[in-house]
Amino acid sequence: MTGTDRETAGHRSFEGAPAHVVEFYKENHREQTFAVARAKAARFRGLGERKMSAWDALLELDELVDESDPDIELGQLDHALQTAEAARVAAAPEWLVLTALVHDLGKVLCLFGEPQWAVVGDTFPLGCAFREEVVFHEHFSENPDSREPRYAGATGVYEPGCGLDAVTMSWGHDEYLARVLEGRLPPEAHYVIRYHSFYAAHTHGAYQELFDERDRELMPWVRRFQAFDLYSKAPDAPERGALLPNYRELLERWLPDQLDW
Ligand code: FE
Ligand code: FE
Repeated sequence: MTGTDRETAGHRSFEGAPAHVVEFYKENHREQTFAVARAKAARFRGLGERKMSAWDALLELDELVDESDPDIELGQLDHALQTAEAARVAAAPEWLVLTALVHDLGKVLCLFGEPQWAVVGDTFPLGCAFREEVVFHEHFSENPDSREPRYAGATGVYEPGCGLDAVTMSWGHDEYLARVLEGRLPPEAHYVIRYHSFYAAHTHGAYQELFDERDRELMPWVRRFQAFDLYSKAPDAPERGALLPNYRELLERWLPDQLDW
């Protein structure tokens, strides 16, 4: 399938996705177990990898192409600018434009040597049954958790209605960045960052059994954000010269400090 075919077919057309995307999800769905996700979260909880500003992280990501993305092969700096521009043009509140700009900065995990299966791709709950609303769900048959009786059933190890923050999600850039930016952004921004890759829930409406009141209240923001993340994807790089100074100024107002990563 060519880039143009995929354009016509719409975004996130995983049907006929490039082989590297299929391979990525095979590996991701096999390796992301409850135990692995908890170990990764524990390993990065201390945020002791590096000190850098959000601006520096944004520039570093210029190098990185996301292997799980069937839509574009641009670097992450261009993706950040496209997403932020989509939010700005839609007259989104400033905090949401900022969120759009920084939402994928957690992908710096790749620059710390983490494999892509532990950083990018759609996220999903662990500790309960895998569901067919998750993209390439058929590959979960290779995940050892699919044979673990404790993790069977819609809520598995969780109390119904426990709230997503109590759920161990597959580990990746969402939760990691949410930790890095803890306490620095409005709660809505924090929530969007933490769950923006949870397509099975925000786009396909699955896993409602695990939602609490707060999830029901905040998930609409994730859906609003998701349109900027997804539909701004275009094969041509944005005009950086015109955009970078404005976005640098935005970042310096909201996140001026050196952050612990
Ligand atoms: Fe992302
Ligand atoms: Fe993104």
